[in-house]
Amino acid sequence: MSIPVRIVLVGTTHPGNIGAAARAMRTMGLDRLSLVAPREFPSPEATARAAGADDVLESARVCATLDEALAGCRFVIGASARLRALPWPAVTPREAAPRLLAEGAHGEAAVVFGRESSGLTNEELARCHALLHIPTNPEYSSLNLAMAVQVVAYELRLAALEEGAPEQERIDPLASAEELERFYEHLERTLVAAGFLNPANPRHLMLRLRRLFNRALPEENEVRILRGVLSALEPGRSGPPGKPTEEELR
Ligand code: SAH
Repeated sequence: MSIPVRIVLVGTTHPGNIGAAARAMRTMGLDRLSLVAPREFPSPEATARAAGADDVLESARVCATLDEALAGCRFVIGASARLRALPWPAVTPREAAPRLLAEGAHGEAAVVFGRESSGLTNEELARCHALLHIPTNPEYSSLNLAMAVQVVAYELRLAALEEGAPEQERIDPLASAEELERFYEHLERTLVAAGFLNPANPRHLMLRLRRLFNRALPEENEVRILRGVLSALEPGRSGPPGKPTEEELR
């Protein structure tokens, strides 16, 4: 699974962080890395810290400016350790991930990370549609750059897995409309016989019960059980309880 979201690292000072970010990406199935004016790249330290995720480093695009790195991107989120005075919509990685995936499917989407020393400038943040902040201890909010990349990449993977998860397979088929009707008739008869439902003044009782059962999407088997329960409760019923006859089930 390749997750179509670009990771952009701006002005990274420590090449080790570039390698560690590449590793973080690789573990989560991201492979699009752009580096804006890194201090040192390529670098043996980056390769060492990538620990085998060399392909992400090899295909990394090195750009002179953020504009260049964001060329072709339609949706951009900036990761910031500080919740700025800048009145920008701020989202958590969990909120950002499905949006990034959805936008990434239509055109490219990117997450921009700042410098180790000073983060992103306000001008850089203003290029972003939203700010992403990883909730932290307010007294110490700055994660290591590669660790911030890891958190975001992990949420992207979780969101992608959820998106691609196959519909839960149904083991038993849903009860047919006819089966449901026979159940409701059976229920109504039983309630009238028990004196709970007054046919002269039914109000909306059956309607409400239908709404309740229909909300549960009853399966064939479940309707069979419910009808068995109704039969077992019928007054004057002979024979062992809980075993509906063919006749009763019809
Ligand atoms: N000292 C810098 C933080 C640099 S950490 C500052 O105060 O801005 C390097 C980068 O990692 C940040 O620019 C940001 O992109 C990312 N990062 C670190 N902690 C983060 C957090 N809590 N939420 C979102 N991104 C974070």
